Formats: sequence, C-alpha cells, structure tokens
Amino acid sequence: MEKKDIKSMLPSEIEAVLLEIGEPKFRAKQIFSWLMRGVSDFGEMTNIGKSLQAKLEELFYITAPEILRRQVSADDGTIKYLWKLRDGNAVESVVMRYKYGNTVCVSTQVGCKMGCKFCASAHGGWIRNLTASEILDQLIFAEKDSNLKISNIVLMGIGEPLDNFENVIRFLELVNHPEGINIGMRHISVSTSGLPEMIDKLGDYNLQLTLSLSLHAPDNETRSKLMPINQRHPLEEVLAACERYYSKTGRRISFEYAMIDGVNDSDEQAVVLAKIAKKLGAHINLIQLNDVEGSPLKPTSRLNRFIKILENEGANVTVRRKLGSDIDAACGQLRKNNAY
Ligand code: SAH
Repeated sequence: MEKKDIKSMLPSEIEAVLLEIGEPKFRAKQIFSWLMRGVSDFGEMTNIGKSLQAKLEELFYITAPEILRRQVSADDGTIKYLWKLRDGNAVESVVMRYKYGNTVCVSTQVGCKMGCKFCASAHGGWIRNLTASEILDQLIFAEKDSNLKISNIVLMGIGEPLDNFENVIRFLELVNHPEGINIGMRHISVSTSGLPEMIDKLGDYNLQLTLSLSLHAPDNETRSKLMPINQRHPLEEVLAACERYYSKTGRRISFEYAMIDGVNDSDEQAVVLAKIAKKLGAHINLIQLNDVEGSPLKPTSRLNRFIKILENEGANVTVRRKLGSDIDAACGQLRKNNAY
C-alpha cells in the first residue's frame, strides 16, 4: 500500500485513522502538534509510544523540504529560500521583516500556467500543484531555520493559488487550526491573476482573509497583452466576481498594479483605475515593476504623478515597499528550479 501524506490531514482525519487501527483518538492532537512543529520522523514524537510510531511509519510519510539555498538581503534582511521537495522539484519562498511582524510569501505550484509577461514565475511553464503540506512546510521550515516568528502569510509566491484550489483551502484550514500554528485569516492574503469561477468558489467559504487581484491594467486591451488569462476572462467578468466576493464576505478587495513604463502608467489609465477601484471600494497597491531577466518591460518613471492622479480622484492607494531586490526576492522574481 502506498504511504499517505500525513501533514496534509486535519486532526479529525488523523483521529479517524487512529480509531481504525485501534488507537485512542486523543493521540491525534499530539501527532498533529508534532507535525506543525516540523518533526520529520515519527520517532521524534516522544509522547505517543513506540508501537504507534511504528504503525504510523507503515501508513504515512512526513514531508520535510531540504534547503538548497538560503540568501539574505544585505539591504533589509529579507531571506529567500530555495527548497527541494520530495520528488526533486524546487520552489522558492521569502521571509520579509515588517514592523508589524514577519511575513512569509509562499509558493503554491511548481511553475505557473498563467504566462504573465512581466513575471519570472511564468518561465518554463507549469509542472505540478503543491500539496497542502508542501505549502505549509515553507512556513514551518522557514521559521525553524531563521528563528523568526512568522505572523503573516501571503500566497504570492510561484503559482496561481486559485488554480490549486483544494490544496490551498486545505493549507488554510491547517495553518488556521487552533491546535496547531493558529494564524488568523486576517493575517493571510491570497493573490490571484483573476479566475472568476474560483473567486466565487472562495467567496462561498466566507473566510476573513484578504483577496488581492493582480489587476495591472484598467482596460482589456492592455491587460490582455500583459496577462493571457484576460483573453479568457476579461475585466468585466473578473470585476463582477470581485464585487460578488465583497458582498458575500464583507472583505474589501485589494488591487495589485505593477507600474510598467509606457504600458499602464498614463494619466488616462490612472483615472480609469481610480473609477474601477472606487466602484468596488478596493484598495490599490502600486508595485514598482521589478526587473525580470530577458523582459523588455521597464519600471515606470511616472509613479508620483500616477499616485497624485489616483488620490485626486479619491482612490485609496499605497505603494508596496520593495524588499529583497538585491537577492531577486521581490514580486515577480521567484522561479522554480532557480539554477541550483
Ligand atoms: N498568481 C498569483 C500569485 C502571484 S503573486 C497572482 O497573479 O496574483 C505575485 C504578485 O507579483 C502578483 O501581483 C504579480 O502580478 C506581481 N508581479 C509579477 N511580476 C512582477 C514584477 N516583475 N514586478 C512587480 N510585480 C510583479
């Protein structure tokens, strides 16, 4: 029989297995708690007894990624990890240090299908989804390695979270579980390139997390050039889904908007963007475009003027701080199998 991934299981599911193998169900909490602390061997679960350790070893495996590379930014202390997964694939995550707490940016897929023109994660296409345990491990093992307490999570690494829906939901349930890491939904952001059906599906869960839409252009012509997904699901569809999401959950949407020279930084585009954001009550998070090797797209020189227009139009806008750019850890710079 093939072994199962125990770290992707909720305590209630571990309990059900324990009952089947004639063990008391209270052990589930102990096992879950060990897993959330990052043990990589059942032998380390010292309070559950040798015989249960052996039984679990027969039925399950415990994921534990290996650190292939750790880079620390000399500018701001941002740490980027390249992890080797069980099957040899690799993904990156980033730990950022903010005044209000440390944040981990996790990947959700090995590669990405979306093909956005400005994003390094698009290079080389999509290989597979990460399991819930593999998403979780990025937090658990980054915390263990760095000795930093992580209080916030952004699903903004490699991959499209809503294209790996089931595993992302499971990850959220695990990381939010009171018997484990217990990070509140309000400390979690999920970023999407804009899949309307999946935004609706997420809305049905009515979670108090922050949903960020990678907007990057206020008109279909520009957005379709930058983001192929817009050809399948144009702005009207995505924004309508965001509106439904907001009315279901009461949580304001956040727009991510990477400022690209001569592409999406005109005065007219600022006016339209402000209009869209105000209609939705959305917050605009401007990002100065980060360099991606081999891309002809350049960062804007009109950032301040763009902000001014947005503010004059009454929109709610902030600029994302750039962290870790000296180690290619900034938005859009993460890649799978990063030349190790
Ligand atoms: N697939 C999801 C999650 C990725 S999040 C999404 O598209 O939202 C990463 C964020 O960084 C997204 O908003 C993405 O559009 C943005 N980004 C990608 N490349 C970038 C670049 N070169 N400069 C700045 N931001 C970038």
